[in-house]
Amino acid sequence: MSNGFFGKVLWVDLTKNSFEEEVLPENMYHQFMGGYGLGCRLLYERMDSKVKPLSPESIIGFFPGLLTGTAAPFSGRFMVVGKSPLTGTWGDANSGGTFGPAIKKCGYDGILVKGAAKNPKYISIIDGNIEILDASDIWGKDVIESELFLKNKHGKLIKTAGIGLAGERLSKISGIANDKGRIAARSGLGAVMGSKKLKTIVLKGNKKVLISNRENFLSLIKEYHKATKIKPLSPMKKNILSKIFGMVKSIRRLKIGMAASPTLMRTIYRYFGTTIGNVISAETGDSPIKNWSGIGMYDFPYEKSKLLSSVNINKYKVKEYGCFSCPVQCGAILKVPELDIKEMHSPEYETCCSFGSLLLNNDLLSILKINDLCNRAAIDTISTGVTVAFAIECFQNNLLNLDDTGGLDLMWGNSKSVVELVRKIILREGIGDTLADGAKIASEKIGKNSKQYAITSFGSEIPMHDPRYFKSLAFTYAFDPTPGRHTAASIDFSEIGPYDKFEKSLNLPKKWKKNEEKKAEAQAINTGFHQILNCAGMCMFSPSFGPYPFIDLLNSLTGWNTNIDDYIKTGIRIQTLRQAFTIREGIIIAQNELPDRIIGLPPAEKGPHKGKTVEYKEFYKEFCNRLGWNPENGYPLKKTLKDLDLEFVIKDLY
Ligand code: SF4
Repeated sequence: MSNGFFGKVLWVDLTKNSFEEEVLPENMYHQFMGGYGLGCRLLYERMDSKVKPLSPESIIGFFPGLLTGTAAPFSGRFMVVGKSPLTGTWGDANSGGTFGPAIKKCGYDGILVKGAAKNPKYISIIDGNIEILDASDIWGKDVIESELFLKNKHGKLIKTAGIGLAGERLSKISGIANDKGRIAARSGLGAVMGSKKLKTIVLKGNKKVLISNRENFLSLIKEYHKATKIKPLSPMKKNILSKIFGMVKSIRRLKIGMAASPTLMRTIYRYFGTTIGNVISAETGDSPIKNWSGIGMYDFPYEKSKLLSSVNINKYKVKEYGCFSCPVQCGAILKVPELDIKEMHSPEYETCCSFGSLLLNNDLLSILKINDLCNRAAIDTISTGVTVAFAIECFQNNLLNLDDTGGLDLMWGNSKSVVELVRKIILREGIGDTLADGAKIASEKIGKNSKQYAITSFGSEIPMHDPRYFKSLAFTYAFDPTPGRHTAASIDFSEIGPYDKFEKSLNLPKKWKKNEEKKAEAQAINTGFHQILNCAGMCMFSPSFGPYPFIDLLNSLTGWNTNIDDYIKTGIRIQTLRQAFTIREGIIIAQNELPDRIIGLPPAEKGPHKGKTVEYKEFYKEFCNRLGWNPENGYPLKKTLKDLDLEFVIKDLY
């Protein structure tokens, strides 16, 4: 008998106003672990293909990772799964905080919701008592107001995950927020919840995950903490570090982000979070500029971007904050008197760039305001920023005018207009209604050649990392079964920080950079590994912090004796099923093409990407060959499906 999971999930049917537990076979955990792996296995079987994502037949699931709920460092994540209303592909979104462990504390490995209520509801699972309750008091409230209301009603110890105004209005770029505005943002799954009239899930429990080899498990964690402890920095040292990171050009030359020691990486994340990239990435060419048509050093030079630096953001920091079981704590809570905001999450790099360099906006306060608006509305900041950039470019090219925008002057860098436009998108007010489902759908509504300004991959807004800088991002942006994501196992992206030390501790492929021929193989292995990292509930930054006893922790928890190769095979099984889910919808993701701009067509004439065009299609073919998929159409081969124990997929694809 394995441990680490409860062996059951909870199904809630909002049409029938009922719920039931389902016991899952142990083998399912061996084969799909937890998180979106388990979610994909269940949804593939239980949700017919061609079900409309916003129909009652659509299923949405909430799955903690396999390690989630334990003290394993960085393991507190959960995943929301479903069919994406934005792309029609397999959809998943990931969030940290404390909601994932709360699912486990209720004694479940997942909560799945089907059907649709007639009136707003919330699901309450408190100390074993499951209820579907009236949500009319919180429908129309933002996620923070709603969380506070529910805490007043059910006690401070509850954890919640729910939609804000964007999800209520079925925005296809809306997400699901927990812990006062952390969002499982991507794939538009907030709209699925909204279509079911499900406002929130409330959790509280005290169940404990059983650990097979508790002594070893705890000793591994103790040793990890001992070896990786971050010493608190004195104000003077913080000041010195801030000054160093103000010297962006030197940092760029040193390529410090790529080569830093584990201790330095943890310290950087602790004190600056992901916003450490705000200025450096604009300089190096990682950040997209002016809706991917500009060049950082000319259009958004240091003199402008420095106003968005993490050092400037830290001036508003009142405390450090992080996910359950995380020793790094890369988040922060800010207080912004100028905006009358007493408490808000610090923005991430993706948000700062989506509303910063992408729009040529260096007004930090406007970005903080937008971050708070988006978190409260639970809308994806990447998708919203990209959609705003699209609208600005349409306006600049006379495809939208002042009448269309309700008087908003959509100029590059006009922060006031951008804040107002975001508010309209959240409320679907005027032009906001045109834009509320993302850039691709907006371009279909606007027509008139506007498509060229919608920088999306299969309808999903492309995040804030340039494939001309991290080359293999092009192929994950294009071809992952959830397209347009920077969190999808790009091998270059996995090189940030002392990843090599992490690789060494796990025997993962290394030094692929020196051997281009092995690159596709390394990418295939990395893809498998990335799935198990996610499905264990691990933070994607964890490999950037050096050696980590990942496999030993998994085996001590479960009692399995699985080696890295078998875990990677599990990851490839999960990726293959995600791929099959998308293909079953009639989508040949292998034929997807990226917008010309992001791959350098035509190549830039100056700047860090001068002369570069990214080839990604041939690389995908090699990658398919390594995974046992047909390189022409991405279909997993029958033999591969049999080898991976996915025979049940064959009838759907062949
Ligand atoms: S590093 Fe940051 S995002 Fe990752 S688990 Fe820690 S606090 Fe959460």
